[in-house]
Amino acid sequence: MENNELWQSVLAQMQLHISKANFATWFQNTEITLKDNEKVVISVPNAFSKEWLSNKYYKLMLKTMHDMDNSIKELEFTINPQSLKRFVDKTAVEQEKTDIEQLKFEEFKVNKDTNLNPKYTFENFIVGSFNDLAYAAALAVLESPGHAYNPLFIYGGVGLGKTHLIQAVGNKITSDPKKKKVKYMPSEKLVSGIVTAIRSNSMEAFKASLSPIDVLIIDDIQFISGKTKSQEEFFHIFNSLYEKNKQIILSSDRPPNAIPELEERLKSRFEGGMNVDVSLPDYETRLAILKTKLQEKNLKLPEDILEYIASNVKKNIRELEGALNTLLIYCKVNNAPDLESAKKLLKGFVFSPFDVANYKKIIETVAKFYNLDEKSLFDKTRRKEIVRPRQVAMFLLRKELKYSFPAIARKFGGKDHTTVIYAYKKILKESEENNKLTEELGLIKQRVYSG
Ligand code: ADP
Ligand code: MG
Repeated sequence: MENNELWQSVLAQMQLHISKANFATWFQNTEITLKDNEKVVISVPNAFSKEWLSNKYYKLMLKTMHDMDNSIKELEFTINPQSLKRFVDKTAVEQEKTDIEQLKFEEFKVNKDTNLNPKYTFENFIVGSFNDLAYAAALAVLESPGHAYNPLFIYGGVGLGKTHLIQAVGNKITSDPKKKKVKYMPSEKLVSGIVTAIRSNSMEAFKASLSPIDVLIIDDIQFISGKTKSQEEFFHIFNSLYEKNKQIILSSDRPPNAIPELEERLKSRFEGGMNVDVSLPDYETRLAILKTKLQEKNLKLPEDILEYIASNVKKNIRELEGALNTLLIYCKVNNAPDLESAKKLLKGFVFSPFDVANYKKIIETVAKFYNLDEKSLFDKTRRKEIVRPRQVAMFLLRKELKYSFPAIARKFGGKDHTTVIYAYKKILKESEENNKLTEELGLIKQRVYSG
């Protein structure tokens, strides 16, 4: 398999496991520079990336590559400050418009003015009972921006098409000859804009830069939770646009009333327009999505494989796409896989908790993840480096294996089971509020379930 293709498929898988921002931070300027028998050398732009990738993602990357090409047994990272430059210098790769090319990340095509990515359109947005209300609301907004529903607030779990839909609205509006001004911002960007403006005493200028906008789209607004100052400024920004009948579109992973530490007045603003959710597609819709995506790419896969994906990859649409792309990349270099090899390739996408997760695996994985001896998880200590991993282990035993609280307490040296309940609730609550923890839990689970 060609280095670049191999790397693209690793990237496709990594995107499933980490947030966009993290993905961009750690993976964007990386590439395979050398593949030498069992070893693959990956170049990264700086020492910081090297350390982070080798500590956090080594195993997952190795496993992904090994699944694609089982001669690969080792990875090495080298620092190459040039890799950023080379990544931007799109040369030969650019011309070679292969199928693989279409699977690649199109991050660089983002419109500088609007921040919209043109790949998100209504044309390639599939509508089913899981998202038809959100779709209808989006169409109503298109009909009369600023007047139908303001704000339009779309919520639902990750990978279910929120970003796709709200960007599609933006793209459609900018393509209209009326030339309305659209701005798309992930909420991290909004927050960092506000923080910078506060620090440099330029809040008025920041607000002025937003005032000519006709349609403001903020993605993942839940990140504003707990950020008091940003909420206060956003409240004013919101109001001044709203009063001028400018359209505001928001997405979130949960409805306004479930966003913790959100000012009451913002919550009521968010609830004041149209709140509509996107949910999970059912089996038939998942199959239809797969077929549509294949059709778009003008590619084919055997029906039994498509049915296998549709019945086993259930988490969200991003994973469906990931599974499909994994197979397509495989097809590009090998023959089309049969069902058995497809199953092997898709192992990482298919979760069957009761087959693979068990007590030993969870303890082992948590300890390894946090760089601890398994024994020390059971130490009678209040040291933070131990307490947190221990709570995570308790949480996962409960959540993934449905252990009873007293059973977990017994495993941990006869602790009072209320301690376990406390740990469970604490991790649950924090994982809802804290990205880093959610990501850690995701990575740990991925390791528990991936063999
Ligand atoms: P979210 O923002 O809800 O986390 P995204 O909008 O990023 O999810 O969607 C994840 C991936 O799935 C994207 O590549 C997107 O294009 C695709 N996708 C999601 N929903 C649909 C849909 N209804 N039709 C086609 N593709 C979709
Ligand atoms: Mg999104």
